[in-house]
Amino acid sequence: MSATAPMTSPEHASPEHAGAILEIDLGALSANYLLLRDRAAPAECAPVVKANAYGTGLSEAAGALYGAGCRRFCVAHIAEGIALRAAHADVEIIVLHGLMPASAAEVARHGLIPALNDLGQIAQWSALAIETGPLPACIQIDSGMARLGLPADEVALLAAEPDRLAGLEVRTVISHLACADEPENPLNRRQLESFNRQRATLPRAAASLANSSGIFLGPDYHFDLVRPGVSLYGVNPTPGRPNPMREVVRLKGRIIQLRQIDSDRSVGYGAAWRAERPSRIATVAVGYADGYLRSLGNRGFCVIGGARAPIVGRVSMDLTTIDVSALDPSRLAVGDEVSLLGDGVDIDELAEAAGSIAHELLTGLGSRYHRRYVNGPGNGPGNGAGKP
Ligand SMILES: *Cc1c(COP(=O)(O)O)cnc(C)c1O
Repeated sequence: MSATAPMTSPEHASPEHAGAILEIDLGALSANYLLLRDRAAPAECAPVVKANAYGTGLSEAAGALYGAGCRRFCVAHIAEGIALRAAHADVEIIVLHGLMPASAAEVARHGLIPALNDLGQIAQWSALAIETGPLPACIQIDSGMARLGLPADEVALLAAEPDRLAGLEVRTVISHLACADEPENPLNRRQLESFNRQRATLPRAAASLANSSGIFLGPDYHFDLVRPGVSLYGVNPTPGRPNPMREVVRLKGRIIQLRQIDSDRSVGYGAAWRAERPSRIATVAVGYADGYLRSLGNRGFCVIGGARAPIVGRVSMDLTTIDVSALDPSRLAVGDEVSLLGDGVDIDELAEAAGSIAHELLTGLGSRYHRRYVNGPGNGPGNGAGKP
């Protein structure tokens, strides 16, 4: 026997040993899907499950959505589409990034529908279709965001030379909104008009413009297909107004040490927080390596036993320190759970405290948590929610 052996993965820690439990409520995810679907009807709804379903777990999230009746999905990368296809043979999968060089054959083999983003991608997909038979496609056009999709001059060229689409069944013309979370922003209207003007020059196809917030801009923005992402996972698509979505993600950290410090003592790296009075500090086993953003240092908050407590000092790689001086010390112990996300910690509010957005918090959620999926399809209400 050799002196070394393959390492076991430290990921998916047992609930007893994990520094934190990440709980994903698949029932709430499904309910959010149904709410968005009904809101957008008669338009269809193709949930966006890119980036590991915004950090919640592609396999579990897509499984729950499938259980709720969803048969169309959007992903960003080809590899995400291939992973989704392996689990679901009978769904439509749109790859928003479209084709990479020399990827057409593999994309076709997995039955994925690329959102073609430039004339080169269109040429690659069409060449394969001419060789092997008709292929479905989406065409993504730029209506004013200047990020991805055919720019106006390429749309004009395509309109003038429709043979470039030979062999392709164009299912949907897609575009993406830059400011949908700001209903008053005039760019929304301008993008809507640009989208309508440009797609009228292309072969007739279904149309899709709205992301989560776009759905709440009203029926003008719904077209035939909506593509909600972040709202499915509980984030408010209507900032400044009440959140219509149910909470999906709950992160519960564990206190691994409690200490009393004298006034004028500092806490953590850089001595970035100094106690103005004798204070009690709880240390939680979650840090920026777990996606708990470093910018939450001295700015974030958590909830312990229903009461808010501030993050004090810097967030370090594996640890975060909390000022629990205001809490009843007899009701605090090592091993106790602290709500870092959900259960009173609103993800949008926490992201704002970090100078970020909820999308970044979600997609950065780390791999060292014990993940617990609750209220999923086929495991009945409450199943899996048992206390560790
Ligand atoms: C990510 C993405 C979406 C989903 O956006 P949310 O704001 O998360 O709802 C929709 N369409 C495209 C093209 C995207 O890249």
